[in-house]
Amino acid sequence: MAKVKHHAKDKENNRVRTGQFHCCRMVGNHILLWGHVDTSFPFQAMVGPDWYCMCVTYALVVGGGFLVSKFVCERLEWSAIAVPIELALVGLTCCCFSFAACSDPGIVYKELFESVATLEEPGWDSSLSDGGFDEENAKKRMPKRSKCIHCEVYRLPSASHCYDCDLCISDLDHHCPWTGKCIGRKTLKYFYAFLGSLTILILYSIACLFAFMTARGFGWDSEGGGEGGGGDGGNSTLT
Ligand SMILES: [Zn+2]
Ligand SMILES: [Zn+2]
Repeated sequence: MAKVKHHAKDKENNRVRTGQFHCCRMVGNHILLWGHVDTSFPFQAMVGPDWYCMCVTYALVVGGGFLVSKFVCERLEWSAIAVPIELALVGLTCCCFSFAACSDPGIVYKELFESVATLEEPGWDSSLSDGGFDEENAKKRMPKRSKCIHCEVYRLPSASHCYDCDLCISDLDHHCPWTGKCIGRKTLKYFYAFLGSLTILILYSIACLFAFMTARGFGWDSEGGGEGGGGDGGNSTLT
């Protein structure tokens, strides 16, 4: 569902000056809380249009990690190392997630196009460069770029427009609801790091839960009864 936006406003929203500190300003449908546009978290905090989904993800990781730490790891015989490992994995996952969810995913800025004038970019004819910026000449000089009809930036073929973010993103991978924004050229590596750390966290938590239930003899050892759905079972400290 393409959201119909105020085009005049959007055009200006995407015109963000590079090398300048910004605070609480819109970039398309993103919110640049602080920082420069050409950096990444933590020197910049930019959240996407679905920032509330990002908060839910934080709550799931931190809340789930806390519950496992409190009710599973602390009751293990080797809790002295089980708890720190669980908390470290939660911290690592949150760190990777923050980089993916709070960084510029690779937005194609109007001002960057103007200032970069990327001589090394494919399609740029440096012999015609005169140091200035002329929109009409730029079209000729950068034939491999096309103009986005939505946000009116000149983008390389590898960039795509995201209707949720209302921005063009370099090497757009997908719009991720968990991070609340697009995953693109600048954040793909952080996203994979987040997936990797989250997988390790989940596997470790399952292993701890398995060790906990095995030690308690749930289901198949001593009690041979129910399936452990009855909660903590009170005094479950294992020593
Ligand atoms: Zn666009
Ligand atoms: Zn997006």
